[in-house]
Amino acid sequence: MATLEAPPMPLVLHQGPYTIEPMIDFSTEENQRKMRAALDKVRAELGREYDMVIGGKHSKTTEKIRSINPAKPSQLVGLHQNAGAAEVEPTMQAALQAFPAWSRRSAEERASFVFRVADIIRERRFEFCAWLVFEVSKNWGEADADIAETIDFCELYAREALRMSKVETPAQLPGERDRLMYIPLGVGAVIPPWNFPCAIMAGMTMASIVMGNTVVLKPSHDAPTIAAKFFEVLEECGLPAGVVNFCPGSGSTFGDAIVAHPKTRYIAFTGSKGVGLHINQRAAEQQPGQLWIKRTILEMGGKDAMVIDADSDLDAAVEAVAQAAFGYQGQKCSACSRAIVDEKVYDEFLAKLKPRVEKITLGDPAENANMAAVISESAMNKILGYIEQGKKDGRLITGGGRATNAGEGYFIQPTVFADIAPKSTLEQEEIFGPVLAVIKARDFDHALEIANDTEFGLTGAVYANSQEKIDRAIQEFHVGNLYINRKCTGAIVGAHPFGGFNMSGTDSKAGGPDYLYLYSQGKSVGEKLR
Ligand code: NAD
Repeated sequence: MATLEAPPMPLVLHQGPYTIEPMIDFSTEENQRKMRAALDKVRAELGREYDMVIGGKHSKTTEKIRSINPAKPSQLVGLHQNAGAAEVEPTMQAALQAFPAWSRRSAEERASFVFRVADIIRERRFEFCAWLVFEVSKNWGEADADIAETIDFCELYAREALRMSKVETPAQLPGERDRLMYIPLGVGAVIPPWNFPCAIMAGMTMASIVMGNTVVLKPSHDAPTIAAKFFEVLEECGLPAGVVNFCPGSGSTFGDAIVAHPKTRYIAFTGSKGVGLHINQRAAEQQPGQLWIKRTILEMGGKDAMVIDADSDLDAAVEAVAQAAFGYQGQKCSACSRAIVDEKVYDEFLAKLKPRVEKITLGDPAENANMAAVISESAMNKILGYIEQGKKDGRLITGGGRATNAGEGYFIQPTVFADIAPKSTLEQEEIFGPVLAVIKARDFDHALEIANDTEFGLTGAVYANSQEKIDRAIQEFHVGNLYINRKCTGAIVGAHPFGGFNMSGTDSKAGGPDYLYLYSQGKSVGEKLR
């Protein structure tokens, strides 16, 4: 039986306020050389098998998950265990057993652990990027944004946990010592998506453990290798057994059973609307032996719009729309999938957008093409279905199908449809691929009305010059993350606390000053002085 206590490690407490991790400049020869070296190193490790880790014990299951390279589907990236019904109870017991000791560690010890994790990932920055290139088809810059965000989450949450451990009550009664403590919740189920498979997976896991919770981590079926690499770092940093349990498995079996387990105290989920709502419902049913209302932290999909006013810098708007719609193949929850353009500049906007999109290169992410493959064959088929719908409902401007010349992988051409009507399928449903709907608006009021007319409320952007219109958008554009004269993707930890309204989630604001409260509960103590 593995011991619950890790050997003591010296405290690593980073000093000074949180600062944003700079991005790697891949235009320099030195960084290009380092990235190619990292790709070679990782290429040599492809196809390895990774264990499941429950309560510090490494094990294997008979059934396996094969994680493949979407740009070269015949290439195995990692072979993983497939946790199922039999693993649910042992995993929960391991997490429960680890909870008392971990929850009593000081905030400094837990923050020190998270700072150490940040240091190691920073050292292996290029290697971590390379794993994302192979496993989820991110080009170098997209991969680096994911890894930089991972480091940012660690650096911010460790500092935030230290701050919250020293909070003072607004008043002290005479003759009393009055305190407010943020105590851990218990065992959390951490269920991330594949599209930011390092940052989101690590962010929800680090937020959990820095606040003293223990975790059942079920990475996405499509991206378990990067999670295994991250878990190796946790082990290297002296992770006590059971504090994080690494269980790749299917969402609908293992994930669902962990959500429903009576001892699960909270669920930190990021993924699609349908699965998020299902988890919310499952979590709401009281199970025999369940003592609490399960907390759900749900970050879900979007149908994000960029509004282009007649009086705006059209060249800048076109550039921003192209980047936000097609960066990482449009597979960001924040991706621009609707450009809503004032009719006075509509034709000009389209005339400028078409050549810009046609400049996008498609190919191997290891060679740093602008766009690479979408995550899987089923995702590709779903996106192609939307493209066929678009051909019926709108005017194809560019793209419109699979890009077979880019390689054997799941490549889809960057696709733009004009004249998409408000309320139509392409205007309302999250596609999660490189498909942009351009919608004509009568004026700025009409554009805002169309932008808000969806069940989602995640990100949005406005290109306008008039301060009055900008102020109106700030008041009226109902999204969790609004950007003015800037693209609607690329939220930066600390600067743009992230999360959406309505069907986009529970407004959890990852990377913001309130996020860690979701992973704790407040206990007030009034103690009479003797
Ligand atoms: P998904 O909903 O298919 O899966 C997300 C996770 O849930 C995976 O780990 C999956 O295995 C698991 N899961 C599936 N069914 C489950 C069940 N019944 N019980 C428990 N777990 C279950 O989403 P995805 O395809 O991985 O990710 C894409 C989606 O994520 C998009 O909709 C995107 O907008 C959204 N997303 C949102 C944010 C945000 O911050 N709001 C960020 C990234 C991605």
